[in-house]
Amino acid sequence: MAWTRDTEVIGGTMKDGTEHVVVMGLGRFGGGVGVTQWLAQQGKAVTVTDVQGADKLADSIAQLNGLPVTFSLGSHPESLLDDCDLLVISPAVDKAAAPFFQAAMARKIPYTTEINEFCRRCKAPIVGITGSVGKSTTASMIHAAIVAASPVGRCLLGGNIGRSLLSELDSLTPQDVVILELSSFMLEDTPLIEFSPHIAVVTNLVNNHLDRHGTMEKYAQAKLNILRFQKSDDVAVLNANDPVIKTWGKHSQGKAVLFDYANLPLSVPGQHNQANAAAALAVVDAMGCRDQRMAAVAALCQFKALSHRMELIACTSTSDGRKIRWFNDSKATTPESTLTALKAMPARKAILIVGGADKHADMTALAQELFERAWGVVTMGATGPAISALMAGRLTATKSGGAPHLAGVQTLNEAVKQAYSWTHAGEPAGPDHVLLSPACASYDQFSNYEHRGRRFVELVTEEFGGVPA
Ligand code: ADP
Repeated sequence: MAWTRDTEVIGGTMKDGTEHVVVMGLGRFGGGVGVTQWLAQQGKAVTVTDVQGADKLADSIAQLNGLPVTFSLGSHPESLLDDCDLLVISPAVDKAAAPFFQAAMARKIPYTTEINEFCRRCKAPIVGITGSVGKSTTASMIHAAIVAASPVGRCLLGGNIGRSLLSELDSLTPQDVVILELSSFMLEDTPLIEFSPHIAVVTNLVNNHLDRHGTMEKYAQAKLNILRFQKSDDVAVLNANDPVIKTWGKHSQGKAVLFDYANLPLSVPGQHNQANAAAALAVVDAMGCRDQRMAAVAALCQFKALSHRMELIACTSTSDGRKIRWFNDSKATTPESTLTALKAMPARKAILIVGGADKHADMTALAQELFERAWGVVTMGATGPAISALMAGRLTATKSGGAPHLAGVQTLNEAVKQAYSWTHAGEPAGPDHVLLSPACASYDQFSNYEHRGRRFVELVTEEFGGVPA
């Protein structure tokens, strides 16, 4: 068995004759809903269980309206396992720490996942994307490039990006292409079906999710599953600028291709997006669409940022006719992501809004870089005072004329107000970019990063007259 931890784990896939399936973890991101709909449509008796209550899951539950599905929400009662033939677990389930999952294993109930059920049946070639950051953006760029470059078939995008493709299974053919964003949690279980994608893209590897994977080694091992079962005609597309990933070709039986930076006139900012675009072009080449490369390049140049990821959301105009650009990077919930965003901004022309819920991340390197590159910094939320203190220490130490402006506030509303007053102070050489890139989680003020990003857009456009970009 490929995946084991403390107990023997019984992996499986759905077999004919499976009658009663328990779906553990409905979630809000598409996978739980997709697999439940798919199972119910095949006449299986499905019970959905989730630790969250009906209020938090309302959107997902609404999508199951009219289907013969039983719900057991708020906890996972072990009695659900009494007549369970198969357990389908969400990638969010931490198997080692979930008593319900452990109880199912003790009863020798087989388990599977939405992504495994899709991958083992999918007739179209699969391009899988993993990495610590940049998965969604790279997967979307690959999708845009293949749509433009591939002469035949459909190109579908799904997986961790928030869409289950199980409903498309019956219509997929070998002429189509499927692009799947794969998280490390999804990849933990793909060895159960000995699956790796035809083309596997790995963007980078940095400390992430160690609360669940335990060690960097285990995290890397989960990510490596994207290459482990590749065959000789498969391709591994690896980041030449990541010291670890560039060596991973040895783990694949297929051909390894390294990607660098694209150097294209992209509409999305930053070197990191040049790397994402280079990965997309490498996939176009690996798909054998080299003659259509120019079409792919054109599609990548027009590619617009995904919501909440360095997304240009609006412009405001100053009284002296200057344009201020406002960017929503609410998805940046770690200092590393904010550092990447900061580097994509022009030096000493940007105001950054940072701070949020405390995940005990070390903000020292971020404070240093903010000090070097930002025009101004507004800190907010639970971590605001700590980031301000790190910055203020430096301000006092140097007293240099080029040091950034600093303000500490409580809420996002106040932060936008402060950024607006700095940018609209009538200084011709003043800042002309404002970036919400908090480096922290959102739950001190919001329910999630999307909620925080939407509120930011609302504030800029409705209260400060920003014209949507
Ligand atoms: P993921 O799906 O892996 O979370 P996203 O594409 O959603 O990645 O991007 C998350 C954050 O990381 C965003 O703030 C984005 O601007 C930034 N980012 C995107 N691509 C990269 C990359 N190649 N390297 C570093 N940061 C990136």
